[in-house]
Amino acid sequence: MRPRIAVIGSGPAGLTFARVLHRHGHAVTVLERDSARDARPAGGTLDLHEGMGQLAVEKAGVLAEFQALSRPEGQAMRILDTDGTVLRDWQPRPGERANPEIDRGQLRDLLLGPLDVQWGRGVTEVVPESRDGVLVHFADGRQETFDLVIGADGAWSRVRPAVSSVTPQYTGVTLIETSLDDIDTRHPDLARLVGDGSVAVYGVNRALVAQRNSGGHVKVYAQFRVELDWYPNPDRHTGLDRHTGLDRHTGLDQRAGLDQRAGLNQADAEAVRSSLLALFDGWAAPVLDLLRHGTAFLHRPLYALPVSHTWAHVPGVTLLGDAAHLMPPLGAGANLAMLEGAELAESIVAAPGPGDLDKAVRAFEEQMWARAGRWAHITMAGLERLVSPNPSEALALFDEVQPS
Ligand SMILES: Cc1cc2nc3c(=O)[nH]c(=O)nc-3n(C[C@H](O)[C@H](O)[C@H](O)COP(=O)(O)OP(=O)(O)OC[C@H]3O[C@@H](n4cnc5c(N)ncnc54)[C@H](O)[C@@H]3O)c2cc1C
Repeated sequence: MRPRIAVIGSGPAGLTFARVLHRHGHAVTVLERDSARDARPAGGTLDLHEGMGQLAVEKAGVLAEFQALSRPEGQAMRILDTDGTVLRDWQPRPGERANPEIDRGQLRDLLLGPLDVQWGRGVTEVVPESRDGVLVHFADGRQETFDLVIGADGAWSRVRPAVSSVTPQYTGVTLIETSLDDIDTRHPDLARLVGDGSVAVYGVNRALVAQRNSGGHVKVYAQFRVELDWYPNPDRHTGLDRHTGLDRHTGLDQRAGLDQRAGLNQADAEAVRSSLLALFDGWAAPVLDLLRHGTAFLHRPLYALPVSHTWAHVPGVTLLGDAAHLMPPLGAGANLAMLEGAELAESIVAAPGPGDLDKAVRAFEEQMWARAGRWAHITMAGLERLVSPNPSEALALFDEVQPS
């Protein structure tokens, strides 16, 4: 009899895992907390690296579709001084496909394909070694049992406590996200500033990055070193616990949806905008225009799990992606999540019999921990340099990683 496998979460990790299993004819149950595929905005653009995210889409059998949708021109990167002087202006070479960009929503739809996700199935707890396998508890009070449960449920994973007591810690850097629509027609000067890819400006303990998505949409990320409770009267909208990211009333993770759920009204948005303009005071006017014209603001304090997070293997339960190794968003998280999803699925497919499943998972974990540990180290060190008291560190970092 084939093992009953469930993956919790339909982010990059969970969907890639399920899609690769599906491609090989294996049944998998995908359980997602969101009520529908478009229940909340999908988020910004992701660059998928050769040998990581791109390898994963190949393993999922959707490389051609990815190539048709992705934007190699999005690899362009411009760095400015806080006075607006262009310090670096990288353009991808013709045919360069090392890190093309794709909108997160496009990637999700590509991976979803034929998968039958069970929406609105928020998991609250996973209990390994119950009488009939691994017991999964849902927010609606129901329970189900599986032979293998994969926690691909992101930063505030409800599966993680089944294998590890570790929780994410605040990195000291907060990110506020805003966006501009129809930039080419509504803000042509800003469209030129952003170019085809990204523009980044680094100041003392501050950074501002704007990234072009498809369809003239631009995401702007303001990052700064600050206490976790910097925002005036932070909890007035919700019962959000700012240390765990969980809603104190429901116990559910509401961090990513903080502002959507709270429905920041224009007055609140203006308050956030004013706080940001004060934080970035003195920066060049065109750079600040990215904040002045931003439409809504999402509050994302950056958390991370300890570098090289591992756990004692628990039969029947494992983790993928941010649930296993949340790290600063420096272009690696989704790539790792997808590659891990693909590799774990392939290991399961290759396991000769049900008795070998646990051995396959255990071997996969060792491989995941080693690679993710390296990336966690790189991204934590990278965050220190990108949002740093010495902005020349950010430029030096880019010079080290960008092709000359
Ligand atoms: C601003 C920003 C920019 C980024 N840019 C990049 C980039 O360019 N490249 C890159 O590689 N990475 C990037 N990252 C990191 C990347 O977004 C994450 O590493 C990646 O999304 C992790 O994928 P995941 O599938 O592990 O988790 P997630 O994407 O968080 O998906 C988790 C899924 O699980 C669901 N879920 C959560 N809890 C439950 C529950 N209790 N029950 C059921 N379902 C649940 C969620 O609704 C979600 O669908 C960025 C991150 C941020 C914040």
